[in-house]
Amino acid sequence: MKLPPDFSFSQNNLQDFLECPRRFELRYLLRQPWPAIQSQPVVEHEQHLRRGEIFHQMVQQHQIGLPVDKIGAQAYDQTLLGWWEDYLGSMPQPLPEHRLVEHTLQSAHSGYRFIAKFDLIAIQPGEKMIIVDWKTSRRKPPRAILSQRIQTRLYPFLLWKCSGAFDQAISYSPEQIEMIYWFTADPLSPERFKYSQKQAERDGEYLLELVQQVEHHTQTYFPLTSQEQRCSLCVYRSLCNRGITAGNIDDEIDEEVDDDRLDIAFDQIGETEF
Ligand code: SF4
Repeated sequence: MKLPPDFSFSQNNLQDFLECPRRFELRYLLRQPWPAIQSQPVVEHEQHLRRGEIFHQMVQQHQIGLPVDKIGAQAYDQTLLGWWEDYLGSMPQPLPEHRLVEHTLQSAHSGYRFIAKFDLIAIQPGEKMIIVDWKTSRRKPPRAILSQRIQTRLYPFLLWKCSGAFDQAISYSPEQIEMIYWFTADPLSPERFKYSQKQAERDGEYLLELVQQVEHHTQTYFPLTSQEQRCSLCVYRSLCNRGITAGNIDDEIDEEVDDDRLDIAFDQIGETEF
């Protein structure tokens, strides 16, 4: 099955491909509806996702300058209130004043289209660009795992590729870009990844290899993952004969609010194509 001509590669679909090629095929090519719950306990998992969604909205509102007390009123339970207070007390700063909130960037790379939605890009024109991503996973993943996530490789790369779109008079080097993950699970210990020319070159090659692998599989087949432990938390497990019982969310290493689930409508949401 061919990739649709307008297909865009994102952190979600590439991460899915890395974890299981068949999941990529089911979800993004065949658009298979989700036949099963993702994890147990269901209600708790749903509540966690809902809190993550509201928390992202609250942070966005704060980053665009809405009053703190009005935003805080949306914290409907103690967990969410705790996240909000931790954010107010320990958000990464100082950040440059010019902020792009929930901003989508897309760009072509060697004939393939890549897209990313950023929680926050803070820009000091000509000096630096800082990406901040708010993470509401139950646990903070180890730095080694984070460094290998597609997001950590795609986001700074795409921002560097698109940086000329913000101001054509300014050219940014990868060394002027930094990515920060901030965690509700560990608000005092954000993870920072400084970018570099060398890393940008590595990421460009890596992303290209990955999408070429995807293309190869469209001409052959998409295999099921050999890491069967992934299947217990996958909504397609019954389709793949990989069990019918949902795994426990506590078994997941770096579960996160799936950005595809977030339905955020802000006037400030922008899009930049380069
Ligand atoms: S159940 Fe397992 S093999 Fe099937 S799509 Fe999900 S992760 Fe892949």
